[in-house]
Amino acid sequence: MAAAESSKINMPSGGGRVRSATDDVDTILIGAGAIGEAVLYVEEQAYRSIIVAVDANTYPAAGQRLEELLRAKRLAVHVTIIKPDRQGDVIADEASLIQLLHDVKQQGAEAVIAVGGGTIHDIVRYCAYMAGIPFISVPTAPSVDGFNSKGAPILIRGEKITIAAIGPNAIFADLDVLMKAPSALTAAGFGDMLGKYTSLFDWSFGSLTAGEPYSLAAAERTRSALLQCVNQSELIARRQEEGIAALMSALIESGLAMLSFGQSHPASGAEHHLSHYWEMEYIRLGKRQLLHGAKVGAACVEIARLYHRIADEGIDGWSNSGSHERESPAAADAIAANWPQIRKHIADIPDSGTLTGLLRGIGGPASVSELQVSDELLARSMREAHRVRMNRYTLLRAYNERANAANA
Ligand SMILES: [Zn+2]
Repeated sequence: MAAAESSKINMPSGGGRVRSATDDVDTILIGAGAIGEAVLYVEEQAYRSIIVAVDANTYPAAGQRLEELLRAKRLAVHVTIIKPDRQGDVIADEASLIQLLHDVKQQGAEAVIAVGGGTIHDIVRYCAYMAGIPFISVPTAPSVDGFNSKGAPILIRGEKITIAAIGPNAIFADLDVLMKAPSALTAAGFGDMLGKYTSLFDWSFGSLTAGEPYSLAAAERTRSALLQCVNQSELIARRQEEGIAALMSALIESGLAMLSFGQSHPASGAEHHLSHYWEMEYIRLGKRQLLHGAKVGAACVEIARLYHRIADEGIDGWSNSGSHERESPAAADAIAANWPQIRKHIADIPDSGTLTGLLRGIGGPASVSELQVSDELLARSMREAHRVRMNRYTLLRAYNERANAANA
């Protein structure tokens, strides 16, 4: 198979087929009929036994067809349908992980194919890693930028932890499947991308004020994926092949930017911390989960609103004199010293009205109230969500530490 020798995936034009390879993933194919190519790939790798991991929705969407094509090649294939929890959600908890690990062992599987969205991928990436075998990604919706991530967020006794696991050896994103994805999932993928406006700001902010590691190349790569989505938003909204291909390639690009940098900074800032905070609250209360990207999109609107307000309030309050109560006094000094640049970077984030309009245009929830996140939860998360990742210095964290110091 001839793979383009590029570390960057080529952007599809006119919904055309794109095949690329990177250091981390040996084949990335976005195109109609990509499932057929996945079968050829499996054949080439000469796996003697393979598991197709699906859920009750992704089996009819793509898993069944994949199973039939693999069987037609006389390959030994077993289908594992991951069962939902009591709320009806498929989640990456102990029960799902053991269900798949058991089948991997029982079948002597030499590889697993993840057919589904982010959660199926997380379950598979963890199990393949634990079993010491590779996995292949067949996304069924352009819903999240984590398909090619190496980190597996899993739930152990209700606590979310992220295990450093493995990424897929190959990705086959079949536009015939992705075009039929439920529109809420496509809108969620757009929301996850829109969140890069605030994550990219927070990353530059953290590097400027707290010396966090930074890569201009990874930041630019993420920004160009983000702008590709925004520029194609009408085609995505109309679920045109060109738009869906652009969204899918942007999600994969964002994942590759994180892989190349080695951490999630390019794609995850305060908007993701809010989203994680809401997720943990819903797990605690046993409520049905909201889509990751839907939360990120709505959270991005709230963070953008706050950051523009902070910019409007100006430098007063950031100068550190007399506030040694502050948790990060050196960073507060750095904010004052770098204020003009910080303000300029905030100006690069669209205002909350523009972001709301973009989300609405795609047909996703455009606000926290449409997501049915309560005012109380929103207010509490805006005060506390920075504690989700205390190794990140975001403007949300700086703002909350300033407020806490003022109240001390
Ligand atoms: Zn995300």
